[in-house]
This record gives sequence, C-alpha cells and structure tokens, in this order.
Amino acid sequence: MMRLDKFLAEMGVGSRQEVKKYIRKGMVCINGETAAGPEQKIRETEDLVTFQGEQVAYAAYEYYMLNKPAGVVSATTDARDTTAVDLIREKKRKDLFPAGRLDKDTEGLLLITNDGTLAHRLLSPSRHVDKTYFVRVEGLVTEELAQTFASGIDIGENGQTEMTRPAKLEIQRSGEVSEVYLTIHEGKYHQIKRMFQAAGMRVIYLKRLTMGSLKLDPALKPGEYRPLTREELKNVT
Ligand code: URA
Repeated sequence: MMRLDKFLAEMGVGSRQEVKKYIRKGMVCINGETAAGPEQKIRETEDLVTFQGEQVAYAAYEYYMLNKPAGVVSATTDARDTTAVDLIREKKRKDLFPAGRLDKDTEGLLLITNDGTLAHRLLSPSRHVDKTYFVRVEGLVTEELAQTFASGIDIGENGQTEMTRPAKLEIQRSGEVSEVYLTIHEGKYHQIKRMFQAAGMRVIYLKRLTMGSLKLDPALKPGEYRPLTREELKNVT
C-alpha cells in the first residue's frame, strides 16, 4: 500500500505538488472511480490507476543496459551536458541512476537502474567485479606491459604511491596505434587512462564491454539501450 500522490510522483507523472493538483482536479481515477485525495492509499500492484484516462503502470524497479555514447555524462541530471539517464526515454520511474561511472569520452556498457541494493552489489570495492574494456592507445603495446599490468602498476600522483591490482591485458593489435582488451577488478578514478599514462602511453578510445556477468549487447549502437533480460538480471554479479 502506498499514498496515491507518492505513487504518481514515483511513476513520473509529475512532481509531488503537480500530482496533488491533478488529483484535486479529478484527473486521476482508481479502478474507474475519481480519486478522493492525494493521501488515499492504493495497492500499487493491484489497483488500476489512470491519469487522464491512461493507465499508470507500476514498476518497482527498472533495469536498462545502455551503450553510452561519448559526450554523455554518467549522471542523473546535469545543467550543461546530456546525461546517461536522459537517454532512457521510456522510463516509468524518475529515480533512475547509472550504476557506476564512465568518463564523458568513454563509450560502452552502463547499467541504469533505481535498484540501490543491486548497484551496491555490483560496485562494492570489496567484491572486485571484473570489468573488461576495449582500449585503443597510441604506441606499441608489448607482452612486457602485459606482465607489468599483471603484477600491478603505480598510478599515484603527486609523489603518492597507488598500486593497481593485477589486471589482464590481451593484445589484439600492436603498432603505432595498438588495440587491446583490458580486464580490471576495481574502479579507481580514470583508472585505465592512468594505467597507460603510467606506462608512457595515451588512450585514444575506450569502451566498456562487460561488468561481471553482464555483457554489452553488440546490437546496441552508441546511445541505444534495452531492458535487461530476466536471465541477465538473475546473473548480475
Ligand atoms: N577507466 C578510465 O580511465 N575511464 C573510464 O571511463 C573507465 C575506466
């Protein structure tokens, strides 16, 4: 059971103030009857709630896999930039957030949800969920670098030591511009860029492909998204 105004606000019909107004104006019905007031209690999964004749379906949690394009920030709202949450057009709820961060210029897998417990499980530093990235760098990537990344590299700044945990580097193409897959188990700020920087190289393209069991659907072009499947949801982390 929950208050009608809270239900409508959470389902994104409007702000709490706006939905109160809609209810008072008689624009909201419950099981075919005009709602009595904002404080009226409803059974969110059983009662049929309509706003201007359209059903307002209840969704407790939503989960979307987004292929984040470059130029979009991993935030809920931003005064200047488009956010990852802005890209999810069909969302029912207005409390969605990105579970984790990618830099503005990084592409790839981002989970958008309002399930805080699941997000915490996925992101908790103590769980070391694997994340695999496709990385294009300027410079020659060698097996020696793979060894260095495997044993940890110091990405500390201002004279401070900050060792990374062992990471797995798979070389796809080595040349003036090299392409690799890199799997890390933590998520330090700008970690991948800083790892290559510590080795004297510059990342020119970065895309996240996996987070734990979750794999970016190759059918999703940058900016596209889809709901997680039941199977994906069951297996997350
Ligand atoms: N490492 C980075 O440097 N940037 C990201 O967006 C993700 C990992």
